[in-house]
Amino acid sequence: MKKIFIVLLPALIVTGSAPAQLNAVWQGKKCAVVLTYDDAINQHLDNAIPVLDSLGLKATFYITAFSTSMQTRMNDWRKLAANGHELGNHTLYHPCIGGKGREWVKPDYDLSKYTVQRMIDETRMTNVFLQALDGKTKRTFAFTCGDMKIGDSSFINAMKDDFVAARAVRNEMHKINEVDLYNVDCYLVNGQTGDQLIEWAKAAIRTNSLLVILFHGINGGNSLNVSLSAHSQLLHFLKENEKDIWIAPMLTIAEYIKTWQANNKKKTTQ
Ligand SMILES: [Zn+2]
Repeated sequence: MKKIFIVLLPALIVTGSAPAQLNAVWQGKKCAVVLTYDDAINQHLDNAIPVLDSLGLKATFYITAFSTSMQTRMNDWRKLAANGHELGNHTLYHPCIGGKGREWVKPDYDLSKYTVQRMIDETRMTNVFLQALDGKTKRTFAFTCGDMKIGDSSFINAMKDDFVAARAVRNEMHKINEVDLYNVDCYLVNGQTGDQLIEWAKAAIRTNSLLVILFHGINGGNSLNVSLSAHSQLLHFLKENEKDIWIAPMLTIAEYIKTWQANNKKKTTQ
């Protein structure tokens, strides 16, 4: 019996130390949170940026290049990028697959009528546009309406060299080893209270996960909306819990995950 104890002891020590390491896997913190704002609307400039900047938090803005706000307030978007926020690619014209329940999709921008090449060309053109705005060559992408395919064809596969990561719209959060960088899940905000939003962040802390939050309207600007107070309450909670939560733009966190997953793969295959 004594012999068995001696043999088992080192194994127990190794297993015992593993969770502690995983706890601090996000730059020494318990979880990571990415705040994303879609469609380039004025309310992001007027209602989201003041709160983010007052707390010193950096976020990702998924830009539809031909949006009204971009056409009329390009300098404000340029300033936002110069101030450390990320401009992500959310296509040129925001095409989505039309049909039942999607009557608002204009026939000219119905993704089901696009060719894969047209989607790739327009998306690459958006990267060129964003580079003109912020000078950056590394970019992340957000699928419009969560649509990832035209017919049976995925278009992101052909653009993996153009993007470090792509955000989808499924309400899930994952640990660092489980994140799929070309299908990053996120929690869609639509009418939640501040407390409900904070619950998501607490769940991320508990499970050592990546939480990506997707905002559209901030006190208006889109039918998917959140109140000023709920948005502010969440951001203050994140700031107050910065010792446990790594808050950064998608590109920063995606590059970190990419390196971590590559190193980890190396370790397990060695
Ligand atoms: Zn969108």
